[in-house]
Amino acid sequence: MPTSPSRILRAVAFAADRHRFQRRKDEEASPYINHPIEVAEVLSIEAGVDDEVTLIAALLHDTVEDTETTIEEIGELFGPMVAAVVAEVTDDPTLPRNERRRIQLERAGGASREAKLVKIADKICNIRDVVSRPPTGWSFERRREYVLWAAAVAKNCAGIIPHLDTVAENELSRAMATIGNP
Ligand code: ZN
Repeated sequence: MPTSPSRILRAVAFAADRHRFQRRKDEEASPYINHPIEVAEVLSIEAGVDDEVTLIAALLHDTVEDTETTIEEIGELFGPMVAAVVAEVTDDPTLPRNERRRIQLERAGGASREAKLVKIADKICNIRDVVSRPPTGWSFERRREYVLWAAAVAKNCAGIIPHLDTVAENELSRAMATIGNP
């Protein structure tokens, strides 16, 4: 499907509305919506992705996990393909954090092409954030642990757009150069 600016903007507006009360965990408590916009931006600008389903799923990727939004609602508004990708990248919030991380790592390789791209871009953005504007109170050890896990998930999703994989690898190297030494 060709990319339609109006459908992309509708997804931006929807995500902005759903995340309107949320902030990131960094010191400045940045608006949450900056994150899904950055994920879509990495895919579009850094990886050259122009597939509408992937870009819209990137914009909506945290709405079900972090807000009251349901997969059904996304299906009605943005179609079943977008809904399927968002479902794939949504963690089960009832599971403990380590369990969610283990499952993400394990299932990454079997995800759809679209879900893999969203996951890699999500991890690239999160690694950048953990390096340059970490959540308040995170020790260097916790930051390193997160970066290594996120890079491993990105690696398990690799193989679709080589340049995106290189961006993820470079982000890991840069992160370890910055926060890698105790
Ligand atoms: Zn995310």
